[in-house]
Amino acid sequence: MSTTVRTRFAPSPTGYLHVGGARTALYAYLFAKKLGGKFLLRIEDTDQKRFVEGAMENLMSSLKWLGIEWDEGPDLPDNGGPHGPYIQSQRNDKYRAAVDQLLTSGHAYKCFCTQEELEEMRRKQEARHEAPMYNRKCCALTPAEVEEKIASGVPFVIRQKIPEGMVIVEDLIRGKVRFDSKSIDDQVLVKSDGFPTYHLANVVDDHDMEITHVIRGEEWLPSTPKHIWLYQAFGWTPPEYAHLSLLLNADRSKLSKRQGDVAVEEYIQKGYMREAIINFIAFLGWHPGKGIEKEIYSIEELVQDFSLENVHKSGAIFNIEKLDWYNWQWRRRKFLEAVEHDPSARTALIIAECDQYLAPEYKNNSELLARALKTVEEKIIQNPKPANDYIKFFFTAPEFKPEIVYSEKMKVDEAIVKQVVPEVTSALSEISDSDWTEEKIKETLMAIVAKLGLKNGQIFWPIRAILTGEQFSPGVFEVVWALGKEETMKRLKNIV
Ligand code: GLU
Repeated sequence: MSTTVRTRFAPSPTGYLHVGGARTALYAYLFAKKLGGKFLLRIEDTDQKRFVEGAMENLMSSLKWLGIEWDEGPDLPDNGGPHGPYIQSQRNDKYRAAVDQLLTSGHAYKCFCTQEELEEMRRKQEARHEAPMYNRKCCALTPAEVEEKIASGVPFVIRQKIPEGMVIVEDLIRGKVRFDSKSIDDQVLVKSDGFPTYHLANVVDDHDMEITHVIRGEEWLPSTPKHIWLYQAFGWTPPEYAHLSLLLNADRSKLSKRQGDVAVEEYIQKGYMREAIINFIAFLGWHPGKGIEKEIYSIEELVQDFSLENVHKSGAIFNIEKLDWYNWQWRRRKFLEAVEHDPSARTALIIAECDQYLAPEYKNNSELLARALKTVEEKIIQNPKPANDYIKFFFTAPEFKPEIVYSEKMKVDEAIVKQVVPEVTSALSEISDSDWTEEKIKETLMAIVAKLGLKNGQIFWPIRAILTGEQFSPGVFEVVWALGKEETMKRLKNIV
């Protein structure tokens, strides 16, 4: 077996890339990359009935968009890599050779039972309250009987002869999981159409492709004993296994389409950033470790810190609000990085974030717009859609709203307003245009606080509330600065 770690993602092309699949692919990718290994993509299309046109291309483009790139896989040059082809429907000769080996060694046998016979068998077993299992009727056929049936064209499948005894799966996430062969059916390895089933193709390919670690969803755990018996029958060393727990809805039911979007593609279309999706998916069942609070990880940082020991055994809840949070954090991180790189681009970057939502009349007043947007940067980064609402008070003077301006909590009543507003108006009018900065405005208002012997809020609250007409808004210094001297004076003078 290869000494280099080799993992694979082995989707069946039956539709889109499910978020659960994306997580499996990501963990397999991170695990391999962390250990300097290789990550492979293999398409498992043995079930031709479930084949969906375009699904393979779709899976590959979603993975690529996420930045989960494979070292070997169907679309790469030179047959996809040293173990190509990487599409199972193109590897049938390998499965045929492998199953012949099993037939010769007695680990597999041909079964000629018809659907009706199998159903009859199942009915009888159910009546006896037994688990429905193939009764091995065809295992008892002599070679001559087998030949005769083949010669007369009776269709057959090839079954795995499950040996007696126990198998212990040493799962890297779950520990030891025991299986008793008594409860395991003689699995079909080759269907009557000559195509292998998932089980045969999966084991033959994992061996041929020198996979060292199989990382996959827990729905495959019950198949693992069959796979281990196949490895034993072939005389091959099995890979290590890690089975990932399910993704759950908030009510702990299995994540399903009914409760929201499960296709990565839909999140891409909704405009989520790839970094946010990767970060979110990584944390669905993994944590960097006890006491580590860092939550924002790029894919490169994940490669460094990922380990299967920190993957949880229990199901992970898929919480869309958390994805929104990651998206916000990533938009913020990208914005700050860009601004650090080029401070003069700040305004242009923020406008770019919300340009499509802005009212034309706001865009016409570009100087005020730039200042207004500066006061609501965080909100725009979090959610640019309501941009107009955030800044409308800059463009339209509000009415005087006593229910907001007067506040028992802030100890602001009519008398305080009558005292404070003229003081503020006159002090601000003293500031020259060139000195009109947030810093200077703050200094000026703080001086009034000291002079009148009032609390900060008794000055800041009514001024801000008069200027904005809003219960919540950016802080008073920012608002005064962005509105500008003339407009601030106008709004304050109107009320006294
Ligand atoms: N083709 C299987 C799937 O669609 C792969 C299971 C495995 O990784 O072994 O999930």
